[in-house]
Amino acid sequence: MPHPDTWLKVTPGGLYCEPGGFYVDPTRAVDRAVITHGHSDHARPGHAHVLATRETLAIMTTRMGEGRAGETQQALGYGESLTINGVRLWLRPAGHVLGSAQVCLEWQGSRAVISGDYKRQADPTAMRFEPERCDVFVTEATFALPVFRHPPPEAELAKLLRSVALFPERTHVVGCYSLGKCQRLIAMLREAGWDRPVHLHGAHVALCRTYEALGVPLGDLRTATVAKKEDLKGAIVLAPPSAVADRWARRLNEPVPAVASGWMRVRQRAKQGGVELPLVISDHADWDELLATAAEVQAPEIWVTHGREDALIHALGLRGIRGRALHLIGFGEEDEAEETVAA
Ligand SMILES: [Zn+2]
Repeated sequence: MPHPDTWLKVTPGGLYCEPGGFYVDPTRAVDRAVITHGHSDHARPGHAHVLATRETLAIMTTRMGEGRAGETQQALGYGESLTINGVRLWLRPAGHVLGSAQVCLEWQGSRAVISGDYKRQADPTAMRFEPERCDVFVTEATFALPVFRHPPPEAELAKLLRSVALFPERTHVVGCYSLGKCQRLIAMLREAGWDRPVHLHGAHVALCRTYEALGVPLGDLRTATVAKKEDLKGAIVLAPPSAVADRWARRLNEPVPAVASGWMRVRQRAKQGGVELPLVISDHADWDELLATAAEVQAPEIWVTHGREDALIHALGLRGIRGRALHLIGFGEEDEAEETVAA
């Protein structure tokens, strides 16, 4: 059985499946791309052929515009499988954002799973991660330090609702990433019984519409920019993290600046960003989830694409798993990357 490193190559353009002739989440425009999910560090414009879930293709089209998200698009559902030049390919849910998938590849009996970004927590807007046994598991490492243990998201959301009840005159502005986190927060608010409108910064509107078109109901959504200051008393406004501390938010009614991100675990980061109400809600696996997943997929070898490789590779080694840092360029530039907290 060939080792996956003989047929899944690290190239300047990203991970390349040589016998299949395609890249997974390539960092530059290529002929054939398989895309794990719609965040811009994984889904880039200009590929000739793009294969992804139907949801990821729709999200890419919303973000890039018609025709820029692959000259030809091919949708593949979770659990469906196809064979490309002898390589079997199938997708499994990654639990990260709507449509996010692990790309499972098998060639001559040797199996690799490229997970993209993933989390194990429940998320009403994304299908739950399904572990797939494999010979090589490719993982992210955004929060790969023992200090990162995400609390239950419902408890974090309850903090927001308590603050709204405590300050009914003020507007709560929650910084959140426009793809995934925003819609997850809205769906969680609905599950918690919040049936009032949710107000959106203009940057968040298009993807909410796409989620709804894909069958994720989000309830009454309003644009915050056209709302009157008076109407926003006691309201919840979702905005890009960079907008929370800037002039845009200061126009609102005595705003309570909040940010929902795994980085809010780091008190210093919340403080620097002027965040009054940090909410530790993340769409990435935390330390325990990374190690639990490594055990479940039973891979003797794990490749780490981006984040804090050293701590994870050391911890894997203690468990008898070989770790390898891929040093792929260009990942971790979006979603919960450095831009999360406004400078
Ligand atoms: Zn992502």
